[in-house]
Amino acid sequence: MSARAILTWPDPQLTVMCPPVAEITDDIRLLAADMLDTMYAAPGRGLAAPQIGVQLRLFVMDPTWKQGQPDPTICINPDILAHSDTVATAGEGCLSLPGVVVQVSRPTWVRMVWSDLDGIVHEEDLTGFRALCAQHELDHLDGLMTLDHVDAAQRADILAAYGAP
Ligand code: ZN
Repeated sequence: MSARAILTWPDPQLTVMCPPVAEITDDIRLLAADMLDTMYAAPGRGLAAPQIGVQLRLFVMDPTWKQGQPDPTICINPDILAHSDTVATAGEGCLSLPGVVVQVSRPTWVRMVWSDLDGIVHEEDLTGFRALCAQHELDHLDGLMTLDHVDAAQRADILAAYGAP
C-alpha cells in the first residue's frame, strides 16, 4: 500500500463523469487501500478515485479520524436515493483545491447506497458532516468540484485567490 499523488484543479481528469466499477478485483482492493493511505497522508477526510487519476466510481471517507475515532468507509458505485429538502451551507475544503474553502449548500441528510469491497450493499441515512463528506466525494465521481456550486462572480473571486490563469 502506498500514498499516491493527488491531482489538483484544473487538471482535466477532475472533470470527467466516471463509469461504475464493473467488478471488485485485486486491483480495486489495492486501489482502495492506496486511497485510504493517500487520504490519511494528505491529511484529509475523504478522497475520490479521480483525484488520483483513476476514472471509476469509488471513494473513501473517514469523517471522524481527526477526532481520534478512525472509521474508514469504502464506497463503490455509490448513489443517493433520497435527500432532505433542508439545506445547510458550510465551508468546504478539497484536497484538489489546496488552500481554498468554498461555501457550498447541500441537503443536511441523504440516503446513500453503495457496495463495499466484499460486494455487500449498504444503505444508510447519513447526517451531519458524514452527509456533507459523502456528497462532496460523490460530486467528484460526476466530475464536479466545489467551484461548480457557486455563481460565476464567486467562482472568479475564488479562482483569482487560487492563482488560476
Ligand atoms: Zn474534493
